[in-house]
Amino acid sequence: MELRDSITSLKGVGDKKAALLEKLNIRTVRDLIYTFPRKYEDRRHVTKIIQAPQEEDVLLEVTVSSVKQPGPYFRKAPLKVFCEDDSGSVEVLFFNAKYLSRYFYRGQELTLYGKISFNNGRRQMAHPEFHKRGDKDDLRGLFPVYPLTEGISQAQMRSLQLQALPYHSLISEWLPERIVDENNLCPPSYAVTNIHFPKEERRALEGRYRLVFEELLILQTGLFYIKNGVKTNSKGVKLKKSVKVDQFLNSLGFKLTPGQERAFREVEKDLEDGQPMNRLVQGDVGSGKTAVSELAMFKTVKCGFQAVMMAPTELLAKQHIKTLKKDFEPFGIRCELLSGGMKQKERAALLSDLEKGDVQILVGTHALIQPDVKFHKLGLVVTDEQHRFGVEQRNLLTEKGEDPNVLVMTATPIPRTLAVILYGDLDISVIDTLPEGRKPVRTFLRYDESRGKIYDFVRDKVKEGRQAFVVAPLIEESDALNVRSAEEIYEELSAKYPDLRVGLVHGAMKQKDKDDIMIRFRDGDIDVLVSTVVIEVGIDVPNASVMVIENSERFGLAQLHQLRGRVGRGSQQSYCILVSSSKSGVAQKRNEIMVSTNDGFVIAEEDLKLRGPGEIFGTRQHGIPELNVADLVRNADILEKVRGIAQDIIDRDPGLSEPEDLELRERIKRLFGENISLNL
Ligand code: ADP
Ligand code: MG
Repeated sequence: MELRDSITSLKGVGDKKAALLEKLNIRTVRDLIYTFPRKYEDRRHVTKIIQAPQEEDVLLEVTVSSVKQPGPYFRKAPLKVFCEDDSGSVEVLFFNAKYLSRYFYRGQELTLYGKISFNNGRRQMAHPEFHKRGDKDDLRGLFPVYPLTEGISQAQMRSLQLQALPYHSLISEWLPERIVDENNLCPPSYAVTNIHFPKEERRALEGRYRLVFEELLILQTGLFYIKNGVKTNSKGVKLKKSVKVDQFLNSLGFKLTPGQERAFREVEKDLEDGQPMNRLVQGDVGSGKTAVSELAMFKTVKCGFQAVMMAPTELLAKQHIKTLKKDFEPFGIRCELLSGGMKQKERAALLSDLEKGDVQILVGTHALIQPDVKFHKLGLVVTDEQHRFGVEQRNLLTEKGEDPNVLVMTATPIPRTLAVILYGDLDISVIDTLPEGRKPVRTFLRYDESRGKIYDFVRDKVKEGRQAFVVAPLIEESDALNVRSAEEIYEELSAKYPDLRVGLVHGAMKQKDKDDIMIRFRDGDIDVLVSTVVIEVGIDVPNASVMVIENSERFGLAQLHQLRGRVGRGSQQSYCILVSSSKSGVAQKRNEIMVSTNDGFVIAEEDLKLRGPGEIFGTRQHGIPELNVADLVRNADILEKVRGIAQDIIDRDPGLSEPEDLELRERIKRLFGENISLNL
């Protein structure tokens, strides 16, 4: 008897069932044991028939008073078993259940588990689970509920788990005694038994804690191991300590915020230490990440290297080049944009200058990764709004130099614990302060009936000299959805405001037309810009102070936060008005969160609670293996604890080759599967 025995060594599992179980990734007894319940049904308390709430699972103890077989002429009629307890009676129905016709008899004592519903005033229960009272696997207790696949029922899964129970004792302690003691962990065999068949809730929780702890430890140590391998394999671009950025800093016209200062100090240290920098700078929209990257670019160029900046859209690239030219040209540093719309000759000339080293800073979209883009001496890669690029795109750009420094900027706030996991290969700096003088955007939640007032408010603001965004979830009207479209709103506002300049931009327009409209808005030639979420990313129009979001119930939290970040960039008080068609549910919750805070990190945490990390960040895409029991959000506190322990292990034994780490190493391999590329 071994944990790696095939699942077919259990009773009742032949090739057919084994194939079904394989869909749940169950091949061995170990796999089965490590398939944990999603939750438990609480079947500890017996309910009286007349007290049973409708449509909720309840446990009843009843006596059969009579049985009515479906007659020979009514095959479709159900088998009816009339049952009672001392409070009342219930009709138990079984459809297509000929096999049961001889099972029930008058006077029989049963335990039932199922839902009661009312039919013409009679209580009925269809297809409950049932047991003869006193059976050894009676229905009472906390019942595990397992993930299933078609062809495997809950009852079958439970019976397999029961069969595997004797194997639990084979799972021996593998963590060092010190870690077990310091963290009050129960033994793994106890944990597994109690997660499957808890005698009481407390034991299930103890068991789960242990299993979550070990899974996160395996994950975190694995990620540190990978990161270590990346670091020590290469030699980076080393910038001189003596080359200062003060001159550039003084020319900026503002003082760095404390958050920017700290972030740049961390960046500067990386630039000078000779290891390739791999740093993520996180900061809310408008926190001034660009300035930090500019300082890094300045230092890089001053030391004789080139820098490249990749933006997710052409429009953002254009915005960046404008800023960079303004800031760098006074120092004789040449910045250029590699644009999609360039003529062949122009492009060739630019690329040739780049290769000669005559262009020091190049900006563009993912078009930068094309093979004919070659640098003379690439020292720094900056990517903006990282979540839009895959790690691979980042790497392709990096390969254009010899281990250049990498700076990734993201405005998607990620709780620190999670960022450590998602960006395990990156060091992290957080800019947690906004430039002074920014007034927090005031956010209001309104409903359809207030629309008239809202648009009067928009007009008032425009008359004061401001500009406004109006965002809608759809481009065109749709019969299927009761949602206002951008085109519809554009028509409406154009008619309502004959004296104002109203513009429309959406995702189905040609890139050039989109850019034209955005530029006109930026230059103040459009007062009210109606759009879809195309404006979500990065566009900077300080004079825009009103953001109206129509059908706000249809947007995700992160999206709402990004949209709101488009205003509040100037010195004026700005407003965000959420117009919702729904007063309930998750949508309402999201809207309320938006009203209650401007803090991107709080919003990100809430978003994670509502949606889960996989859905938001595509954890698979980040190379994070699928976890079995741990939840990166709910178990953030355990993750925090485990980090230090994992770090100690890696510091002590970077190759995980000492005897006491061998089991850990095995488990890392098992968790990461093919994802782990380093030779573990
Ligand atoms: P992010 O990229 O983080 O969203 P940006 O770098 O685009 O933010 O900065 C937003 C605006 O704030 C820009 O107009 C920039 O010039 C300005 N800014 C940046 N840092 C400061 C600062 N320390 N003080 C005042 N204004 C700043
Ligand atoms: Mg930015």
